[in-house]
Amino acid sequence: AYWPSSGHLVVEKLSASYSNGGEQVLHDLSFEIKSGERVGVVGRTGSGKSSLTLSLLRLIPTKGSVMYDGLATEHVNLNALRNHITIIPQQPDLLSGTLRDNLDPFGEYDDAVLNDALRSSGLYNVQAENEDERITLDTPVSSGGGNFSLGQRQIIALARAICRQSKVLILDEATAAIDHSTDTMIQASIRAELRDVTVITVAHRLKTIGDSDKIMVLDAGRLVEFDSPSKL
Ligand code: ATP
Ligand code: MG
Repeated sequence: AYWPSSGHLVVEKLSASYSNGGEQVLHDLSFEIKSGERVGVVGRTGSGKSSLTLSLLRLIPTKGSVMYDGLATEHVNLNALRNHITIIPQQPDLLSGTLRDNLDPFGEYDDAVLNDALRSSGLYNVQAENEDERITLDTPVSSGGGNFSLGQRQIIALARAICRQSKVLILDEATAAIDHSTDTMIQASIRAELRDVTVITVAHRLKTIGDSDKIMVLDAGRLVEFDSPSKL
């Protein structure tokens, strides 16, 4: 069966550091996110939001357990983990090549699917702002994605997530670099295109995630609040 099939996340006593034996940046986080829930993560700079996103995919050394649909990540091959759960980092790197290569690095999808994903991600709206540059699947991407803004790179990563239809999406919004309309657009695409997906969004504006099912507040690597927005 395809894993994770529903996107139910259980985290127990999760701690993390950036090197084995290094200083802990997350301390004993325990929480549960139900299938299809939208969770917004907030906290001041350095509170551990990005570290949490990385820990959920074992991209940094962790202790404790992270389970998706009952399966603990330590029992999952790391490549499988990263192929089945999508993370959009604060500064996504793109592959040099074309947009098609970036949306579909393994050549799995028809152009119709890729074009739909591009359209629903909102990249065509971004394009409308500079009409002289048509964005298509053949648009070249330079190494690292330097010919796209940080916000556009996140949108491209989101389009890839839409193609993959993974059951869990972890989005670490770009900070100051992302303008308000871009982050509103990203949230709108997520709502429209990823309906039965568990979505964890690290946000820098409360407004972006105001309609989340739950808000998680981190402070100095600890979970200090986790509740519905109306109860905070
Ligand atoms: P921001 O809002 O600025 O993105 P954040 O909440 O995402 O902040 P983190 O990046 O998770 O914060 O940082 C948490 C702690 O981990 C901080 O003390 C930070 O200095 C440390 N840290 C972050 N990245 C690294 C790294 N690559 N190596 C070592 N320590 C790091
Ligand atoms: Mg961060």
